[in-house]
Amino acid sequence: MSDNIVHNVIIIGSGPAGLTAALYTGRANLNPLVFEGLQPGGQLTITTEVENYPGFEHGIMGPELMDIMRKQAQRFGADCQFKLVDKVDFSAQPFKVYVGKEVHLAKTVIIATGASAKLLGLSSETEFMGFGVSACATCDAFFFKDLRIIVIGGGDTAMEEANYLTKFGKEVTIIHRRDEFRASKIMLDRAKSNPKIRLITNTVLEEVLGLNENGKKRVTGARLKNVKTGEESVMEVEGIFLGIGHKPNTDVFKGQIDLEDNGYIKTSKVNTYTNIPGVFACGDAQDHVYRQAITAAGSGCMAAIDAERYLESLHG
Ligand code: NDP
Repeated sequence: MSDNIVHNVIIIGSGPAGLTAALYTGRANLNPLVFEGLQPGGQLTITTEVENYPGFEHGIMGPELMDIMRKQAQRFGADCQFKLVDKVDFSAQPFKVYVGKEVHLAKTVIIATGASAKLLGLSSETEFMGFGVSACATCDAFFFKDLRIIVIGGGDTAMEEANYLTKFGKEVTIIHRRDEFRASKIMLDRAKSNPKIRLITNTVLEEVLGLNENGKKRVTGARLKNVKTGEESVMEVEGIFLGIGHKPNTDVFKGQIDLEDNGYIKTSKVNTYTNIPGVFACGDAQDHVYRQAITAAGSGCMAAIDAERYLESLHG
């Protein structure tokens, strides 16, 4: 339901950036309203163990970490709602944030909508998505017990997904379009030393092959092409995982604030200000360089402090 309150701050998104912004604005007595979006908790809710978040010596499961962050923000008054913002109007104060027919008003908005997995754009990929094609190993690996799997990509995501998938699949083949890898050395070495992983370079996925029998779809193979020789081949597999990076979730802000050509939100180099005073951006929606949970949380903290100072400046 729409309320007639002009909130101090509305936070859009609930990954480490959004929930850290909620914690800080909560502790500043700003009573933040948080719209958690389609994936409450963000991308960490679809990972397994997070080993690189400081403070957890033995690692922590991604969903558990996000649960703790939400509870910590709620303890200081954050109102976390599982709702999706589908429109904003930043043309005048107070800003308008729409959730379907509901309109919510705010003096400041912190955007923390994160990023989502990229797809290749093949029609066969769409056709078999959820029926053997996946962009999230931790969500779907379980369905591929003792099956043959390929992972597309040459970055850390692809290496991590491949390693994880070896716990379930019979064999995992990483298909990368170049012969150099973007992945960090430690992740690449881990994949290379895993006896269940094979790497094929200079190769792209041209088509997902599958069957649709009696309304039951399943992947049966992958048509591959060597980009150096042009040679095509078919590999029999049951699972195809995409690990080719992410796209910022910023479509809803197009025309409202300045975006980079690649869709990331433009912010000042020294703080989280966007081109609209009172609108701040943090986390993976504006950071295409570091994209870590800890950097997202750090920028969420910055956005909260920026919003707090902006509000102070309004009230003189
Ligand atoms: P990256 O952008 O680093 O890598 C994407 C990979 O996918 C590249 O190898 C790229 O190829 C390939 N690719 C992109 N588009 C296509 C396409 N259309 N067809 C075929 N291949 C394609 O993204 P990641 O998600 O791997 O990593 C993002 C960031 O997150 C990095 O900073 C990474 O370090 C970090 N990360 C850290 C993890 C950890 O520490 N545990 C785990 C996962 C990610 P090309 O190289 O040719 O461009």
